[in-house]
Amino acid sequence: MTEAFRAHCPRCDGERKCLIHGEFDQPWCEDHGRNQMQGQMDHKLVQCAGCETVFYYRSSWDDQDWDGDYHPVTGESIITYPRTIVTYPVPEKKGHKPDWVWDIGQKDPQLFKILYEVYQAYEAESFILAAVGLRTAFDLTTTYLKIDPGHTLEQKVKELRENGVIGETEAMTLQTVTEAGNAAAHRGWSPDRETFQILLTTLEQFVHRVVVSGKAALSLNANIPARQPKPKKQPKPNS
Ligand SMILES: [Zn+2]
Repeated sequence: MTEAFRAHCPRCDGERKCLIHGEFDQPWCEDHGRNQMQGQMDHKLVQCAGCETVFYYRSSWDDQDWDGDYHPVTGESIITYPRTIVTYPVPEKKGHKPDWVWDIGQKDPQLFKILYEVYQAYEAESFILAAVGLRTAFDLTTTYLKIDPGHTLEQKVKELRENGVIGETEAMTLQTVTEAGNAAAHRGWSPDRETFQILLTTLEQFVHRVVVSGKAALSLNANIPARQPKPKKQPKPNS
């Protein structure tokens, strides 16, 4: 079936166009002598056209839950039954993931996967794993930028700086991301939430700029003018 309808995707957590793979409408009626209750449950197995997650969707109403109104012209009373929508799985906890992270899936699925796990680790307060993941995410981003994967992370930061992809301050903070990841991976060092958030923000800004908005692409093609040797810095007198 290819009929498309819109539903709230529990994974991208937004209203998305969805494919319906199967559906079943189930009216019900309960008879308790004088009291009768009725309603209907519409079940669907749907797939988000964005992230491709398959989920269960149920829309239901019953005659005990109704809204009354009057027709503005004829004055007739109008009864409506609001629908209750349930999905399984339920939408993920509104976490720290910015919306653009979902766009990375189409550009670099591997980078998306590791970032996704970083946010999961963060939400579970597994800061060691999250810090190691950040370092890996940085590494994958440099691969996306076609930096030689054989280089050490330190060399990669340096190369990005020299190619003008990142500025000096960003180079320093990204260096911290790689060092923190290294300390977490090899010495079990665990950043606290605040420290991790700083590392994460640094990496997010970098990834967003070079992967999502693609601003670094120009700086990394063959048209880079040869680097001029820098004159040696004169030590500045303290003012
Ligand atoms: Zn989705």
